Amino acid sequence: MERDGLARIGSLEIDDISVRTPAIAFVDTERYPAPPGALKLKREWTGGKGDVVIASSSFSAEPKRSENHALLHPGFRGSPYAEEHPRDDFALPRDPAGLLLDSEKFIAAITGLKGGQDLIRPTFCSVMGTPQRLAFLAYCGFDVFDSIPLIMSAENGWYLTTTGQLVYDKVEELPCSCPACSAGRRGKDELLHHNYFTAINELRLVKHSISEGMLRELVESRIRSEPWMVQNLRLLDLHHHDLLEMHASIKGTRFHAGSKESLTRPDVLRWRKRLEQRYTRPEGARVLLLIPCSAKKPYSLSQSHMRFRQAIWDSGKANLVHEVIVTSPLGLVPRELELFYPAKDYDIPVTGHWDRDEKKMVEEMVSWLVESQKYDLVISHLGDEREPVNSVLKDFMDTSHGSPGSRESLLRLTDAIKAHAPEMQGPKRGARDVDDMRSLCRFQFGEAGADLCENATVYGRWPNLKITTDRTQLGMLTGERGMVSLTLEGAALLAKRDSYCVEIEDFMPKGNLFVVGVKKAGKEIRIGDDVVVVHDKEARAVGVARMTPVEMDLAERGEAVHVRHALAMPI
Ligand SMILES: [Zn+2]
Repeated sequence: MERDGLARIGSLEIDDISVRTPAIAFVDTERYPAPPGALKLKREWTGGKGDVVIASSSFSAEPKRSENHALLHPGFRGSPYAEEHPRDDFALPRDPAGLLLDSEKFIAAITGLKGGQDLIRPTFCSVMGTPQRLAFLAYCGFDVFDSIPLIMSAENGWYLTTTGQLVYDKVEELPCSCPACSAGRRGKDELLHHNYFTAINELRLVKHSISEGMLRELVESRIRSEPWMVQNLRLLDLHHHDLLEMHASIKGTRFHAGSKESLTRPDVLRWRKRLEQRYTRPEGARVLLLIPCSAKKPYSLSQSHMRFRQAIWDSGKANLVHEVIVTSPLGLVPRELELFYPAKDYDIPVTGHWDRDEKKMVEEMVSWLVESQKYDLVISHLGDEREPVNSVLKDFMDTSHGSPGSRESLLRLTDAIKAHAPEMQGPKRGARDVDDMRSLCRFQFGEAGADLCENATVYGRWPNLKITTDRTQLGMLTGERGMVSLTLEGAALLAKRDSYCVEIEDFMPKGNLFVVGVKKAGKEIRIGDDVVVVHDKEARAVGVARMTPVEMDLAERGEAVHVRHALAMPI
């Protein structure tokens, strides 16, 4: 199953017919026939094989049928994970029309559905799913929508687009070339079919975005059409970060941080929080050098950063210098973390102008950095971001004078390090490499990560670096993943500290680990993390988490860990 945050592509099995979700269940009556081949939403007494069926109310006089198909009582059978749910097979919010009026109610409904036992069940969204909202609603974890809002809009003369609704009669040239719009006639039927067409197309785009891990970008553009959606996304980001972050993959897709909401994306906010919670600078790096970001990523490969690094080398004290990149929306990126998602995976519009929220964020983070990391010397070598950063620094040198790339500035930088950095105390060769790696391992695995670098050697050609002790390889940083992939020996060190562990029943994993064998999973685990498969403190396998710890707890089927190495069977 493919996922992007709470959104997911699943397969819904109704009477042996499989439907790929997110999907629309179309009302199917004589007056409003469903499009051919579509998933149908029927009354209980009219439902056929493979239909979603609205159960008859126990108070109604409607005839009941004994064999049910997929009951929306609603109840569906089949979910991406569960074998079968005998009771209601759908989770759904109450009073959907009320949620459209009230953001707080909507948020409460989402966190109720997705923060508890219902997480895994297919989630039904009634009344809300117009084309412009499908991306956002899928982002909130809805799997199936009904066609009621499409019909209601057509009845009211609304021509639906993915960026909002237009008055059908007022549109001179229809901005669409679907069969209904190209028919040369204008009537209710054409309008309804256009609305169907638009919703179906948008849902295809939503599914594609989920499978590419790019749904958030689509959401940030689609919410513009309605204040209700902007409110909802902001409230979710700010008040329910923990829920969204739990489901955000640790290694996502490259994205464009082009809106105000990009500042609070779950993966962006996680970066900033994780720095504050886990970060310790490389021990030997006693001189802080703040530099600007570059459009090219990783920054190291950009012309501007190559020049900075040359200036640093020319000082003869490069091993003492800690380069920290100042950037939006991440705030700060210490050089040794520049490969870690999303540090090399974001693009921003460059205007030279920092807005208030960005300034405040950078000011707070720079203050945190200098107060918590205790440097001997602080050098600011910045451009556009110089003013907010310098405003919070107390004892520091400014070597850029606002143009960090100029020859004069670079010479000033070399001279400042040469003259003011403390004397080198002859650190052992490669010591700084180990310090840098320790800092990255801590960022990835928390405190237990530091154990990987205890008496270790780091070697290789950046960005691919191996960590070894006594000729045993513990892990390897790769440029592609941007994080450390562990060997079984490295995994055993994490197991000792009970960090990033997936506890299993007593068996030897052969191939990938499925969720049935899982007893317990560490709360710190995110999809995409390297995890240790453990039984009774013994590291039996190591691989990449494919589910969140909550899913490992609730799900009945599915792959929990994609195994890289497993312990050989005892002979
Ligand atoms: Zn059309």
